[in-house]
Amino acid sequence: MRARLSGGHFRMINEKLYTCSGDQALNYFKEDTSLFNVYHAGYQEQMAHWPEQPVNIIIKWLKNHSPSLIVADFGCGDARLARNVKNKVFSFDLVANDPSVIACDMSNTPLDSLSIDVAVFCLSLMGTNFSNYLQEAHRVLKPCGWLLIAEVKSRFDPKSGGADPDRFSKAVCELGFMSVSKDISNKMFILLYFKKKV
Ligand code: SAH
Repeated sequence: MRARLSGGHFRMINEKLYTCSGDQALNYFKEDTSLFNVYHAGYQEQMAHWPEQPVNIIIKWLKNHSPSLIVADFGCGDARLARNVKNKVFSFDLVANDPSVIACDMSNTPLDSLSIDVAVFCLSLMGTNFSNYLQEAHRVLKPCGWLLIAEVKSRFDPKSGGADPDRFSKAVCELGFMSVSKDISNKMFILLYFKKKV
């Protein structure tokens, strides 16, 4: 019963985050920080059923590249990425439940322009204004810097009302990126790799 109730609460908060803007989401959690913990408990519970977690693929990707690359993890959750790589990682989320996390709306981070080598969005393009998050990533990335996006597969299934992946990629490119590769081999999520245009 308790699990069912908290599952319902998780879905409600999840729906809220997908249907409001980043600054509204920031205020929503500011008013009641405990909602963030409910959300993340539900998130972990859902993830436990996924055969593979996208954050682990991104960790592997970073381990195969130079540890000197500076990373920004947009919508970091519990900052698992930062905890598992040698790189310098700036972790951002709406609430900082770990001292290493910087609490902010990720459309407006305190990072300097042109200071980052890899921008990561792992299941975090949630707000209605998510293109602002990608614009912020573009601002902080160095030329040729990487943009890695992991998103739930169902969001990219045009048959169930999702976005057309090619159109999404095109829209990202219009923000000043070029598409490098795409991995659709996982059952639950897709991974898109872009680089900032010079
Ligand atoms: N990247 C983590 C967590 C994904 S859950 C992982 O893969 O495990 C998505 C996260 O994005 C949530 O923690 C949510 O609070 C955060 N998020 C959503 N919108 C945000 C915004 N506007 N600014 C900062 N974080 C945001």
